[in-house]
Amino acid sequence: MQRILKQLSGLLDFLYKKRCYFCHSSKENTKMCNKCYETIELNPPAPVIKILGKEVYSASVYTKNLQKLIRAIKYHNQTELAYFQAKIMYDYWQTLPISDEKFVIVPVPLHKNRLKDRKYNHMELVAKEFSKLTGYDLNNSLIYRIKETKPQYRLSIKEREENLEGAFLVDKTSYDEEKLLIIDDILTTGSTIKAMFQAFFKKDMHKVTAFTTSCTESHIIKMK
Ligand SMILES: [Zn+2]
Repeated sequence: MQRILKQLSGLLDFLYKKRCYFCHSSKENTKMCNKCYETIELNPPAPVIKILGKEVYSASVYTKNLQKLIRAIKYHNQTELAYFQAKIMYDYWQTLPISDEKFVIVPVPLHKNRLKDRKYNHMELVAKEFSKLTGYDLNNSLIYRIKETKPQYRLSIKEREENLEGAFLVDKTSYDEEKLLIIDDILTTGSTIKAMFQAFFKKDMHKVTAFTTSCTESHIIKMK
């Protein structure tokens, strides 16, 4: 009888306990176990680049588990993992002197048609979790994506910039001179951030900083 109960409880655990999305262990009853979380190394506490004179920070390099984490939220409806992406950003953010300052979080917006296809803006989910961790407010009605842009990954830097020309529109109605922190998942050429900065500058909003979950290895090499 005891053996049967044990097997039954094992089966129930198997069915109902959360498994780590990365190593599939159900030991911690979580979507990302500590061991997998700790494989993600944080970047040095300094801006990875400056775009149009503004600082851009990035929490880690886009490798293995971080790549899997970002893709899971973005493409595979693993919305529960947004907390862990935000937590990585928060862990890194706390290593920076500017974390003492107050910011308003601005997630990179999706075009409304893209939002319809995907059902949610993955960066807004991450931004919400990041807002809970930092206590910063979130404002998702400051900037809109008004142009349906092509996916960026196959385009050259010049093509990316052309693709993003006129893509963003800023609405200052809810702006109260706060410092803005643009949040995105991957920093490659920085064209999206550049286009957003330009859209804010056009409306005379210059207190902007950007922060991405990940960047490429080459950014870190350039920092050293
Ligand atoms: Zn794991």
